[in-house]
This record gives sequence, structure tokens and C-alpha cells, in this order.
Amino acid sequence: MDKKLSAAAKPNERRQFLKLSGAMLGAGLIGNPFDAFSLEPRKPWTVGEIMDAFIAQVPNGPFEKTVDTLKVGSRDTVVTGVVTTMFTTMEIIQKAIEHKANLIIPHEPTFFSGSDETDYLQEDPVFRAKYDLMEKHGITLWRNHDYVHRMQDDGVRVGVVGDLGWEEYYQPNSPILHIPKTNLKDLINHVKTSLGVPAMRYVGDLEQSCSKVLLLPGAVGGRMQITQIMEHRPDVLVCGESNEWETPEYVRAANEIGMKLSMIEIGHSASEEGGSEFVKNWLNQHMPGLPVYHIPSGNSLQVF
Ligand SMILES: [Zn+2]
Repeated sequence: MDKKLSAAAKPNERRQFLKLSGAMLGAGLIGNPFDAFSLEPRKPWTVGEIMDAFIAQVPNGPFEKTVDTLKVGSRDTVVTGVVTTMFTTMEIIQKAIEHKANLIIPHEPTFFSGSDETDYLQEDPVFRAKYDLMEKHGITLWRNHDYVHRMQDDGVRVGVVGDLGWEEYYQPNSPILHIPKTNLKDLINHVKTSLGVPAMRYVGDLEQSCSKVLLLPGAVGGRMQITQIMEHRPDVLVCGESNEWETPEYVRAANEIGMKLSMIEIGHSASEEGGSEFVKNWLNQHMPGLPVYHIPSGNSLQVF
């Protein structure tokens, strides 16, 4: 765990990122209607107040349909501390208990499906272990996926761009970054080092020259990835993950007809972990005095 923590908390990049979010706030690029709250520490926050404050600065929020619901616990819980992460593993729950943090805000599902359906899992020991541990320790869990993605500028992408050290190539609201010319091999090495990923799968030619990057963290779906490739014609798609029978086959076919196109799959977790740092920074700024910890959950899939 410590290894993971240090891998994800490289002080230089964090500083850069903090600078970036500060600059963006200064430029009014991130909506910030809660400045009044930031000025002074106030009464303890409840889960519901934290949710409402975050949702209030998302255009068109609250959404009628969203996966960002409470999965465990209640809105009325007075928050003693917050853990932000990608996936709520048993280890993350234990860390939250150790840190006396009774609100966990993950980006992704807790119970193994997009909408966290639990009806079929009620008697399952894996589900029970996770759920019961949180319940026993009075932990509330709020997923923040749709809201952070649909801020004025996608908070996850802003966080990941910071992790990659690509702030100067980033234009708000654009998935396209023009990085200094490199080859695919060196680009992969850069992503591996800056995101702490041991190995990545790719399609293309390691010697291919890359400058125009299409950055799509997470799993946006094959059709979206391919549509974005068609629209922008990047040198390389850098994504979280994809179905093997979708975008990777498109990229292979593109190479077979002589196009210069490659793709890198970072892995879902590492590709969006910067978003959990973003949420932590947001909470620090808007709920002063509230202890908030970003604890990376890492990837369940190992490479051997
Ligand atoms: Zn996401």
C-alpha cells in the first residue's frame, strides 16, 4: 500500500497540479459558487451537505438519472473525514477506519456492476464482507462519477493531465493534446512512469512518431473512442480500457491499410486516479478543516 501511495503522490506533480487548479479557478474556468463557504471553517458537514455542495457546481445538476447515489449509509451522517479513491476495496475500507474517515467517495462501482445492483448478492460472502464492514463502522459511501465528469471541465481529465505533467499542452474541455514529438515507445514509458503503471497493452508501431494525443481516461466505450478518432485523427489514443474486439481491432485495421495510428491502454484505475485527487482538492478547498485523504486503490489485474 505504501508503495502505491508513494507512486501516486509524487510531490512535484502534485504541486504542479495544485498550481494548475489554482490557475483555473483564478481564470474562472471551474465554477465556484461556494466561495462564501471557503472563507471560514463552519459547523461539521453532513454527507448530504457535501453532496449538495458538489452537485450545485455541476451544470444541470442534480441529474434525474445518475449512478452517483448513496450505496451505504445516510445523508444525515456527520462527516469525520473523507477518503477519495477509484475503487472501494477492503483495504480502502480498512484505511478509512484507520484514518477515522466515515465517508468514502469512490469514482467507480463498489459492488461489481455499473449501477451497483445488490439484489442477487445478498447471500454472497464477498458482498457481505464489504457491505457489513462499512455498516459496522458507520461508514457512508457516495459514488461520485457522473458529477465529477460533468463539471464545467471534466475533473477527472484535469486530474489525469496533472498526473501526466501535460498541463501546458492542455486546453480546457478538449481531449486533444499536442505534446512534443516523441515515439510511441517513449510515450508509453512516460505514461508508465508518471502514473506508476508497470506495463501497458498497446496497438501500433513502437517507433511511430506521436505528437497529437487523444486522451480518453476510463472506459468511454468503443463507439465513442472510434468516433473521437474519426473526428480528431490523432497519432495515438491514450485510454483507460476498451473491449478487445472494438477499438484495438479498429486500430489494427487502420495500421493494416497504412494509417499511422496507435493506442495505449493505461488500465482503468490508473487512467482516472487523478480524478480522485481532484475531488480531494475540491473538498480541501470548499470544506476547510475537514480531513480528506486520497488513497489510490490500484489495479485488481496484475501483470506477470
Ligand atoms: Zn470516470
